[in-house]
Amino acid sequence: MNDAASITDALSHGRGGELSADDLAGFLDECELDGGAIDGALGEAARAVTERIYGKSVYVRGLIEISNICKNDCLYCGIRKSNKNCVRYRLDADTIVSCADEGYELGFRTFVLQGGEDVYYTDEVMCDIIGRIKSSHPDCAVTLSLGERSRDSYRRMRDAGADRYLLRHETANPDHYAQLHPASMSYENRIQCLYTLRELGYQVGCGFMVGSPYQTNRHIANDLCFIRDFYPDMCGIGPFVPHHETPFASFPSGTVEKTCRLLSIIRLLCPRVLLPSTTALGTIHPRGREMGILAGANVVMPNLSPVGVRKQYELYDNKICTGEESAQCRDCLEMRVRSVGREIVTDRGDVKK
Ligand code: SF4
Repeated sequence: MNDAASITDALSHGRGGELSADDLAGFLDECELDGGAIDGALGEAARAVTERIYGKSVYVRGLIEISNICKNDCLYCGIRKSNKNCVRYRLDADTIVSCADEGYELGFRTFVLQGGEDVYYTDEVMCDIIGRIKSSHPDCAVTLSLGERSRDSYRRMRDAGADRYLLRHETANPDHYAQLHPASMSYENRIQCLYTLRELGYQVGCGFMVGSPYQTNRHIANDLCFIRDFYPDMCGIGPFVPHHETPFASFPSGTVEKTCRLLSIIRLLCPRVLLPSTTALGTIHPRGREMGILAGANVVMPNLSPVGVRKQYELYDNKICTGEESAQCRDCLEMRVRSVGREIVTDRGDVKK
């Protein structure tokens, strides 16, 4: 199967499982030439699938950026350890718990604790934080996004009550992975972590950047096959945006068109997946997050971090939402979601099985 019309038809009618990486790579090339008609059809089909499964609901996740200290040196990342101009911070347990308490009052029922790979957050420290949030708010989900850790560490945090884990796979191609990461990091370990997390009972999220340096449509086709076969509970797809203090400072950003196209394709390949419309998408286009929802996304992640540290969690340049209080962030997103005919709901927002 290789013409664009039959691939669009297969995706739109739940037959994405029949598509090969060759089909998908060729299809992505075609989409770039056709002037938007295929994107329109994909978006319409993806919206219909999202509404059939999740209705008009959009889930919110309260994002708490717990630390911008990281032992790693990913080449695309503004808080990589080689960036000596980054002003570092870490939040202590009391501050993190009070961010969650404030979020609960604002209607959040999921908290995402995200940070660099900061050795301060031992299993003991993390289990204490997770336990405190879960005992104050047993109706909430705790999502972790703390990078690669050992199986034992993942298990202990799961036993402490963590529900979900986000770990973008970044690329399903080992050579491309090596172009984006230092030699100390391995593609194999990354993928193994995802399988380990699933075995331990987490709801698991993977994902990648659209338009990352050296990325080709063939790489993306491999990502799509990986995502289809792994079938994550969550999938984080946002455009690559360069950071001026990284080796990739002069590479161009990914585009809103391609990111939305891929959101639609992922929705059609994995209908039940929880799909965020990311802050990075809102950074490259003023209505990027609304466009992401119209392309099939059903999650937004307002920032609950203390305003005083938000600017320092700068993974990429010009990141938006760094000056607003948590309540303002939530209200702003509520208005944006409503403008495209959807509703933010007070709900844990688990994946529909
Ligand atoms: S991408 Fe994550 S692991 Fe890599 S340097 Fe940035 S914070 Fe650290």
